[in-house]
Amino acid sequence: MTKPENQNQSLDGELLAQFVSLVGEPYALFQEEDKRKFLVEWRDKYVGSSPLVLLPGSVEEVSAIVKLAAETKTALVPQGGNTGLVGGQIPDHQNRQIVVSLNRMNKVRSISPLSNSMVVDAGVTLLEAQQEALSNDRLFPLSLASEGSCQIGGNISSNAGGIQVLKYGMMRDLVLGLEVVLPSGEIWHGLTDLRKDNTGYDLKHLFMGAEGTLGIITAATLKLFPKPLERQVGFVGCTSLEQLSEFFNFVSGETGSFLSAFEMICRTGVEFVLKHGSQSQEPLDAVFPWYGLIELESTKEGLLGGFLEDVLGRALERGFIEDGVISSSEAQRKNLWALREEMSEMQKPEGGSIKHDVSVPVAAIPQFIKQGNELVERMIPGARPVPFGHFGDGNIHYNISQPVDMDKQAFLEQWEPLSNAVYDLVLEFGGSISAEHGIGVMKRDLLAEKKSSVEMNLMRTIKQSLDPDNIMNPGKVF
Ligand SMILES: Cc1cc2nc3c(=O)[nH]c(=O)nc-3n(C[C@H](O)[C@H](O)[C@H](O)COP(=O)(O)OP(=O)(O)OC[C@H]3O[C@@H](n4cnc5c(N)ncnc54)[C@H](O)[C@@H]3O)c2cc1C
Repeated sequence: MTKPENQNQSLDGELLAQFVSLVGEPYALFQEEDKRKFLVEWRDKYVGSSPLVLLPGSVEEVSAIVKLAAETKTALVPQGGNTGLVGGQIPDHQNRQIVVSLNRMNKVRSISPLSNSMVVDAGVTLLEAQQEALSNDRLFPLSLASEGSCQIGGNISSNAGGIQVLKYGMMRDLVLGLEVVLPSGEIWHGLTDLRKDNTGYDLKHLFMGAEGTLGIITAATLKLFPKPLERQVGFVGCTSLEQLSEFFNFVSGETGSFLSAFEMICRTGVEFVLKHGSQSQEPLDAVFPWYGLIELESTKEGLLGGFLEDVLGRALERGFIEDGVISSSEAQRKNLWALREEMSEMQKPEGGSIKHDVSVPVAAIPQFIKQGNELVERMIPGARPVPFGHFGDGNIHYNISQPVDMDKQAFLEQWEPLSNAVYDLVLEFGGSISAEHGIGVMKRDLLAEKKSSVEMNLMRTIKQSLDPDNIMNPGKVF
């Protein structure tokens, strides 16, 4: 067997060889070119170093890895699809942390349409889980732009959100049970599909949103829902965010459980997509500062067309919107969604951007954005706010593109002072500094600064009691 080189001698070569033997040589990567895709995230924002990437094929192998790590106090970094946006899945620079990738654990273990549940390995991609549900006439509703790559284990560990949270909740709400390898190496067999179980602490919630700091999730029981047979998108224009808020209130009441998404889009973002993206057509005849995208879904065919038309007609009459269009085909539905989904990516050709994934109470969105835009203009005159996001959940991607004539680097140097001011404003509105992307390393210091000491102490107590030697994803969250 080839013995892995440990270039900076920070982990003993014999120990590395023991780790390799637990998964077999083909599934232990120690050549730089093989490891690279596990050590860099997709934007090149976080780049780490690791002597070894392990690809276990079973829960028993994960358990053996963690047991050895616990005995030898070796740090582990669990990794799913490596699409996280806060650096949580990337090891640090010291070449002492071993990456444990769940890529090979990618089987659907079972599905029960009668119980509306499905058991999957942690390494199943979100798209594969969605497709498996659909092929059994069911819906698994989590939906993110990264769904082709991100994995169920990563979705659970980051408590992912996305575009259907309004109706179905976040990932946390879509999980019935978990299988987890604890920091001791012990396996917690919690793969239940019970809907009701009031027997003490609900342990699965400890691991959801923990970003790999409390254990490695190896499988999950997911909740399934009836499969929608029809979807309709409405795209509306408003003159102010207050008007869009009134429309949200109206449409929520009128459409009830048919409403699956309510997204907010600003004019600047639409212009970026029209200029650089796949869409070249104005969505509405006139131009508006704010747009709303709503999606309705139904498990019965032929219900929605007339219904949405009627709702938008009455919204227009009552002054909740200025104009609106309804998708008349699947292609048009996708085109309207593209205006929203390409928004973040289409900021790139416009130069540097400073981004914030935050939430505030839904009722506070107009004031938050107004005050945020004033603050941005005061700090960096000419900077272009591009706020958009999941209006119905109060989740704003408060992004800012650089002024047209400013040097990109000079703009990006303002990231910290500007973000600090934005986060202070978010907290003034009773909001959160991370709505759906998590903490990772990106917001680690900020978390300690902005959370109360009671909350930080509680979290540290949990971490300390489960992982006293801090081997699980050290340096993340705390
Ligand atoms: C284009 C794009 C769009 C996105 N859109 C959204 C969005 O709308 N909403 C949203 O919430 N996020 C979004 N994201 C962020 C990201 O896709 C999600 O956070 C996703 O849930 C991460 O899953 P992953 O498998 O890639 O996890 P990774 O990136 O590999 O890991 C994320 C975190 O989970 C931990 N982890 C991973 N797997 C396990 C495991 N099995 N056990 C324990 N810990 C584990 C890692 O250590 C890390 O801390 C987007 C990302 C991209 C690139």
